[in-house]
Amino acid sequence: MRILTCLYVDHNYWLLALAVLVCGGGSWVALELFRRARQRSERQRFGWLFLAAVAAGCAVWCMHFVAMLAYRNDVPATFDPFLTVASLMVAIAGAAVSFALLVNRRPLPRLSTMVLAGLLLGGAVCAMHYIGMFAYKVDGLLIWNPRYVAVSILFAGLFAVAAMLSEGRGRSLIALLSLTLCILSLHFTGMAALEVIPSGQQFAGNPGAVGLAVAVACGVLLIVGTGAASHMIDADVNEKALETLRELALTDSLTGLPNRNSLVSFLEIKLARAQAETRRFAVVIIDFDKFKAVNDVHGHEGGDDMLREVASRMRCALKDGEFLARIGGDEFAAVFPLPQGRSAESFLGRLEAVLARPVQIKEFDVLPHASFGVALYPQDGETAARLLGNADLAMYRAKADPGRGVSYYEASMDEAARRRRELVLELRRAVDRGEFELHYQPQARLRSNAVVSGEGTQLPEAFDGHCVIGYEALLRWRHPLRGNIPPAEFIPLAEESGLILRIGEWVLRTACREAATWPARRRVAVNVSAVQITHSDLPRLVEAVLDETLLDPARLELEITETTFIEDKERCLAALIGIRALGVTIAMDDFGTGYSSLATLRAFPFHRIKLDRSFMQDVTSSPEARAILRAVLALGRSLDIRVLAEGVETVEQLTLLRSEGCTEVQGFLFGRPARAVES
Ligand code: C2E
Ligand code: CA
Ligand code: CA
Repeated sequence: MRILTCLYVDHNYWLLALAVLVCGGGSWVALELFRRARQRSERQRFGWLFLAAVAAGCAVWCMHFVAMLAYRNDVPATFDPFLTVASLMVAIAGAAVSFALLVNRRPLPRLSTMVLAGLLLGGAVCAMHYIGMFAYKVDGLLIWNPRYVAVSILFAGLFAVAAMLSEGRGRSLIALLSLTLCILSLHFTGMAALEVIPSGQQFAGNPGAVGLAVAVACGVLLIVGTGAASHMIDADVNEKALETLRELALTDSLTGLPNRNSLVSFLEIKLARAQAETRRFAVVIIDFDKFKAVNDVHGHEGGDDMLREVASRMRCALKDGEFLARIGGDEFAAVFPLPQGRSAESFLGRLEAVLARPVQIKEFDVLPHASFGVALYPQDGETAARLLGNADLAMYRAKADPGRGVSYYEASMDEAARRRRELVLELRRAVDRGEFELHYQPQARLRSNAVVSGEGTQLPEAFDGHCVIGYEALLRWRHPLRGNIPPAEFIPLAEESGLILRIGEWVLRTACREAATWPARRRVAVNVSAVQITHSDLPRLVEAVLDETLLDPARLELEITETTFIEDKERCLAALIGIRALGVTIAMDDFGTGYSSLATLRAFPFHRIKLDRSFMQDVTSSPEARAILRAVLALGRSLDIRVLAEGVETVEQLTLLRSEGCTEVQGFLFGRPARAVES
């Protein structure tokens, strides 16, 4: 009752309303800022905590100060500046400690922590109020009623604990109400505890009080308002950042097309609808062939330009209801409806047509070549994963057959994929079980009579006979059940699975050990996969194997293909330089099948070029193949690199090679790969 009388009789209502407004508004801002602090990372948290504590302290302090100015007791009063400022500091510090207790106890703080935080906050509000009252100097006597003081402290404590409990449990409205009630109940119960007995002279009121109260309230509202503004700006920035992140998560940043996540969501929606309406559609995986080579020759920027261009062309070729996404480096996927009676041809034809024109990269024209793998719904799969997986299998089939372009999924591909998986498992055991062996194919040098007889005359057409200068080690897998498995089948699997590292090490060690027992100074040539160069310390391995087998380094030659350079040029160069420093020679294998032959030859001084056997097949019938042979031989002569022709099978081929001045040969004509070498 006394509290109500105090409110009703002793106060200026306008200022009182202002005080309540400041209190409610400040509490709201403080709690919002505190919530932000709870959501943030370590560094940001401190800043938001600071703002929250300042807002809470200011709200309490300002409410108290304005309400004191609203208090009418007809006695002249002043405020001790030091204690007034101290009361503000106490409020801020108390709120900071209380908030800090809860701030990193997510998601649900312990009950005792919440109660302790509430008690601290209540204590800070009380301390602020009563220090503020000590700052209140009147010309009269202040008499305190201890019971009301006790009740005021009890109220503050209870409401503050309620506020922190609700805040901790995420009930923000109750927290706000409780905090406001904590401040208000303390103040007005505290004021009801106070009786002022004037010292004698009458006082006509404090005319400046209203102005001062409004000024203080405005100042504090500005501070609290700044906090509120930061909160709103942050919320907005946060929302925008989230939106950008959401967009990024679904879009490919290079081409602006939807990405894999987006494709999967689209497919799932499409499947749900298609199942309900029994509609057919197709999934196609589009993979650009030899894209790595584009990157290698034209740089990553060139590769990016190419991807952007093909993406934009394909996008322009789409019709309503068709969907295109980029799902990997050079891999795209499209989904398109297939109404009854229609085939996928028209859609694929449209894509092939836009890809048939060359793409201009800087001043070069590059013709994109894509492989398409198609899986149809419902017959080839009823889930997104299965359809994509099967389209992928079909795409690999298309890729393996260069003339093919498009391949449709067939159940037998599953069989092939299963066989590949099984082979990988068996390959793993093959080294330990001793199922590998090396066969050796002779490499010969054609010699002239002049050289043989030692006479000084040069007769270029009179080459006669040959001498074996070395052997190429070729790996053979004798599978206990499946028989001989050709390297063309298992080497790619060994490379994909990383098993080539172990297998390659075995090949190198075995070849060197066996070669050390051969007669004379015959060389051994060992094939080295790109994976071995990019994923292991090959120079160290070669050095260790040479030490171990005591093979003269000059008798070892490593054969690498150009694709090795495409994988990782820097690393490849470093490895080759390390190997050459050991005295081992290096040959470029399968020359003429790659892309950057000249660039590669310039990058590293190879000892030997092995002209790919595909040239031998038509060198006797095709003038073009013959022109290439001539050009490669000329290149070898001018760069001082030996040229060895692979795949020599017939006497006609040999005669032609002789007439063109080729001096090193390998092929069935000189010997098939065999277990034993000639002595
Ligand atoms: P490659 O390095 O080009 O090896 C030469 C291949 O040509 C061998 O096939 C050989 O048997 C075959 N060949 C030799 N002369 C003739 C000929 O006159 N006519 C025809 N048509 N073919 C001939 P192979 O042994 O089946 O090896 C195939 C490929 O497997 C090799 O091609 C090589 O790339 C890879 N390979 C073999 N052994 C290893 C190895 O130990 N490590 C690695 N990384 N790859 C190996
Ligand atoms: Ca080879
Ligand atoms: Ca070769």
